[in-house]
Amino acid sequence: MPRCLKCGNTKVLASSITSRLEETANPPTYGLLANFDRNGRILTMECQGSDLDEAQEAFENPALYLDTCPVCGSKHIQWQN
Ligand SMILES: [Zn+2]
Repeated sequence: MPRCLKCGNTKVLASSITSRLEETANPPTYGLLANFDRNGRILTMECQGSDLDEAQEAFENPALYLDTCPVCGSKHIQWQN
């Protein structure tokens, strides 16, 4: 399962690659958020500006697209399996 090396979060990752809504001052927004189950499988995805094609790509290549921990903002994500 994916794991943030900074804060240990394994439940939710964000993508900084996909399109996103216009930047606001706060909080930081991501185009796409993915929620994971205990086994590291994607349970749900939340599009916040990304389109469905991007969401599909991210679902198929999560290690490529989901590169940011939305909890602490770190990009040090470790992928296993
Ligand atoms: Zn983190």
